[in-house]
Amino acid sequence: MENCIFCKIASGEIPANKVFEDDKVIAFNDLNPQAPVHILIIPKKHIASLADITEQDTELLGHIQQVASMLAKKMNLVDGYRLVNNCGIDGGQTVLHLHYHLMGGRTFAWPAG
Ligand code: AMP
Ligand code: ZN
Repeated sequence: MENCIFCKIASGEIPANKVFEDDKVIAFNDLNPQAPVHILIIPKKHIASLADITEQDTELLGHIQQVASMLAKKMNLVDGYRLVNNCGIDGGQTVLHLHYHLMGGRTFAWPAG
C-alpha cells in the first residue's frame, strides 16, 4: 500500500527497531512508548483496521496473538500486560494499518479505556 508508514516498515523501506519478524508479521518498538515495554505487532499484509478484516484473516489474527504471548514471555512480563487495538477515528487509531500495542512493565494505573 503506497504511503503507508507501516507497510514501509514491513518492507524495510523505513527503519524500525525490530524485535521479531516472520513471514506473516513484524514487531517493533513504538516510537513514543507509553510503557517500559511498548511493542507494535503488525501483519506484513496491509489491512487498514480491525474493521477491514475478513474470514480469510482469522489465522493471521490468531498468529498475532501467539506472537504477542511469545514476546510478552520473552520480555519477561510475568505480572501481565496489555494488548490493545485502536480501531478507527473513535478508537483513537492514528496509523491506518492494523496493529496491536503490546504494553507492559508499567506499575502505575492504566487509563480505564
Ligand atoms: P494508534 O494510535 O493505535 O494508531 O498507534 C499508532 C502508534 O504508532 C503510536 O503509538 C505511534 O507512536 C506509533 N508510531 C508511529 N510511527 C511510528 C514509527 N515510524 N515507528 C514506530 N512507531 C511508530
Ligand atoms: Zn500498510
